[in-house]
Amino acid sequence: MKILHNRILKEGQALNENVLKVDSFLNHQVDPELMFQMGTYFKNYFKDKGITKVFTIESSGIAPAVMTAMQMNLPMVTLKKQSSKILKGDVYQTTIHSFTKGVDYELTLSKKYINSEDKILIIDDFLANGEAAQGAARLVEAAGAKVSGIGIVIEKSFQTGREKLTEKGYDVYSLARIAKLGKDLIEFVSE
Ligand code: 5GP
Repeated sequence: MKILHNRILKEGQALNENVLKVDSFLNHQVDPELMFQMGTYFKNYFKDKGITKVFTIESSGIAPAVMTAMQMNLPMVTLKKQSSKILKGDVYQTTIHSFTKGVDYELTLSKKYINSEDKILIIDDFLANGEAAQGAARLVEAAGAKVSGIGIVIEKSFQTGREKLTEKGYDVYSLARIAKLGKDLIEFVSE
């Protein structure tokens, strides 16, 4: 997605070789027009997959996910990050290790918002080592539903996430794929 590449080059800050900061349009301030365009790309890629719901992980996945759901005319569900396990039986939960914060959290989904017939599109802001996306997929599968696609805004292709997800058979579509990060360096995967 050319326009996203340009924004990353113009405004992205590589904090080190592993972490990219895009606070000016995605992670802190949000550019709604750009989010809408991302939604169009995700819709066009996943439109023939029979998707019934769009899932995302709070909080930075919400903007691109809701714009995608709106254009696909589907509900959007936010998977919540909770610090501890909920012992009541009305939720699915799975433990995830946070790439950026270095801590574990419980990704949580109410049983009310999924059923075994659902075909879920998971959208997230970043793909690093695939912990968040795999956790989201575990929740979907715990409900007997299907993960019909994974849409990522920014994939860091030099980390292991894409490989892990494609090995498990998931269809991963990323709007920007970064090959290398470093001081004053952001290099994309050549298409
Ligand atoms: P993973 O679970 O794939 O290892 O990491 C993905 C999650 O960590 C995303 O949901 C995102 O919140 C966060 N993340 C991973 N890498 C980056 C990064 O380079 N920049 C930012 N802002 N967030 C990241």
